[in-house]
Amino acid sequence: MSILSKAYFHDEAEAFRHVEAVLWPRGAVCPHCKSEARHYCLEGVKTKPSKKHPEGKVRHGLWKCKECRKQFTVRVGTIFEESHLELHKWLQAIYLMVSSKKGVSAHQIHRTLEITYKTAWFLCHRIREAMREGSFDIFGSGGGGVEVDETFIGTEPGAPKKRAYGHKMKVLTLVDLLCPTGVVHR
Ligand SMILES: [Zn+2]
Repeated sequence: MSILSKAYFHDEAEAFRHVEAVLWPRGAVCPHCKSEARHYCLEGVKTKPSKKHPEGKVRHGLWKCKECRKQFTVRVGTIFEESHLELHKWLQAIYLMVSSKKGVSAHQIHRTLEITYKTAWFLCHRIREAMREGSFDIFGSGGGGVEVDETFIGTEPGAPKKRAYGHKMKVLTLVDLLCPTGVVHR
């Protein structure tokens, strides 16, 4: 046995149970109306049949709110929302990213989790954003200055070479002077 053999890394229903236990220690909370009423779990609900899943896919962790009657899962309002990737693969990616001292590239996540590079890139981006310290204020919102600079490097893929900057890749940087590390504090 090892940490990697934990059921929530492999089984979708277990992954939901794990995330629910962490996010809802006192029972399910409706993300729509914030009600903590004893909501009920909708078991055995499937998605509509599709080419990939002709009999429909089981919808894990689906709940119905007793107050507003809307449906929800623990993914709503988290970094897992609006993602088609299975939750247990998300948990694998998070584990790889937080347990590695030197960080993990999207390419490595793509190869290890056997998901497309595009999905892996999106995943890494969301996980990193979630781990960032500080709040998510707009640049300059603390009243300080914001410095902007641009530069041109290399060649834009497929762009015909011309004089000047036309064919170069454009890089724009913004620095919040109240917080030059890039993390914006109030
Ligand atoms: Zn509700």
